[in-house]
Amino acid sequence: MDRKCALITGAARGIGLATAKILSDRGWAVAMVDRDAPALADAAQVVPDAHSFACDVSDPVAVAQLLRDLTDQFGQLDALVNNAGIADFGPISETDFDRWRRVMATNLDGVFLMSQAALPALKKSRGAIVNIASISGLRASTLRVAYGTSKAAVIHLTKQQAAELGEHGIRANCVCPGPVRTKLAMAVHTQDIIDAYHDAIPLNRYGTEDEVAAAIAFLCSAEASYITGQILAADGGFEATGVGLP
Ligand code: NAD
Repeated sequence: MDRKCALITGAARGIGLATAKILSDRGWAVAMVDRDAPALADAAQVVPDAHSFACDVSDPVAVAQLLRDLTDQFGQLDALVNNAGIADFGPISETDFDRWRRVMATNLDGVFLMSQAALPALKKSRGAIVNIASISGLRASTLRVAYGTSKAAVIHLTKQQAAELGEHGIRANCVCPGPVRTKLAMAVHTQDIIDAYHDAIPLNRYGTEDEVAAAIAFLCSAEASYITGQILAADGGFEATGVGLP
């Protein structure tokens, strides 16, 4: 393929769909991955020339098949965006083991499995990994025991990847979004939480999908060729303030 190829997980909506659109606009061939097959089919209609692959990133067998299908269709992989994630809001006492595992399976295992399966292709292209964590992985707070822990682990996994894969020319970076009005966030953000974020964020507002996608696209691009192992908060300045998560 004459164009660079990016694979984006969780691309059926929200930040993943915005990332697919921006990379496509910038000339990348785009592979959109999501476990919600009907939503993925609709989303792929709005991204020119996108290929879509229904896959649950927490399923090792499905992930291995996905990478075989992708290499058959594209012949190469230049950037992997591990964006698929699920939210969870609950106290430690109510987070039973099934719930804990469900969050870890997508948010952490999915990043590990996708990155490992993509490794041969990324080594060939000396490509880039961009993992999507969260400000909840940078700051602890109540009610985010599973979600926050999964995202803190993704931050560290990114550093492990950067340390180990640099010798193959592979860069690994992480984007930590602040609050964005996607389905994931709005399912758990009450009006009190929304108001508290507005107060706590120096830019006094939620981010947009496009603003986070622009940070992801930068880290995928050759403009970031000497940047690896970095954790970039796209959060309106929230992390800089030291204020706790609402
Ligand atoms: P979203 O719910 O709008 O989109 C997530 C997509 O991931 C959905 O299409 C969903 O079907 C898919 N998905 C979930 N589990 C999957 C799995 N196991 N396999 C394949 N696909 C799966 O969410 P979003 O807000 O766009 O979130 C994208 C990423 O950004 C997530 O990792 C999330 O944790 C992170 N994030 C979001 C916010 C926010 O405020 N929206 C803040 C910080 C971090």
